[in-house]
Amino acid sequence: MALKAYDLTGRTAFVTGAASGIGRASAVLLAEAGATVHCADLDEKGLHDTRTLITDAGGSAYTHTLDVSDRAQLASAIDHTASTGRLDILAAIAGIMHSSPVLETRDEDLDRVLAVNFKGILYACQESARAMIAAGTRGSLITMASGAVDAANAGLLCYSVAKAAVVQLTKTLATELGPHSIRVNAVAPGWIRTPMTERHDAALQHQAEAAMVRMSPLRRVGEPEDIAHTVLHLASDASSFTTGQILRPNGGVAMPW
Ligand code: NAP
Repeated sequence: MALKAYDLTGRTAFVTGAASGIGRASAVLLAEAGATVHCADLDEKGLHDTRTLITDAGGSAYTHTLDVSDRAQLASAIDHTASTGRLDILAAIAGIMHSSPVLETRDEDLDRVLAVNFKGILYACQESARAMIAAGTRGSLITMASGAVDAANAGLLCYSVAKAAVVQLTKTLATELGPHSIRVNAVAPGWIRTPMTERHDAALQHQAEAAMVRMSPLRRVGEPEDIAHTVLHLASDASSFTTGQILRPNGGVAMPW
């Protein structure tokens, strides 16, 4: 009976960043919980592999190859998803990492990170919320922030600013969409071992992950599945009284009030 709240049978989810890392693990887990999952990403081959993981396990998945920073592409994919049934869940996970000291940060770096990591989430939330309101769906929007919002990180200005904007977007939207029974929450993961962090760690000569392990009371970094379980919680009825919150699966690295 307790697990019934996590059952997503009959629901439809749209997941961005679904070709890799946290997005893939989330798409797979939402499908395992019974949702039909629409997987969106730039990476067509990765999307294909995610869909295969889902369908081989008996789930239902569709793919949309798109750039989340292009509103028209996202709007078309979300419209299509909503028109094939009902859109219940958005997990806006796609993102990129950029590292440069503030004094060396170029306009084009800032513009690109904001376009993908902030506007990509804004557009996905706007288009999904419009579809949910039109259909009268009690939906759940899940945004991807980062533990970067809880600390000052040298070299991560663009990334941290974009993620801080996601936090404000999440709280503002939760306030505006609550009367429509649409919940909006953010996930702010700590260090999770994915292709993104593997590239970043290699650039820092394998020091970043080791530092995170030392900082965590659990003495480990996270795996994509750790975050997928938080996404499932926020997608499901188990979190039906939770909105405007920032959930922090971070191994205890940061413990804000
Ligand atoms: P990942 O393995 O690199 O996955 C990100 C996916 O997003 C990739 O498939 C990537 O495609 C796709 N993507 C990038 N730009 C896109 C765009 N413009 N349109 C559509 N898809 C795009 O990274 P991850 O670690 O799972 O990160 C997922 C999210 O979690 C990001 O928002 C990240 O900021 C956040 N996060 C991660 C960590 C961590 O420690 N890993 C911690 C906190 C927050 P390409 O590979 O083709 O670029």
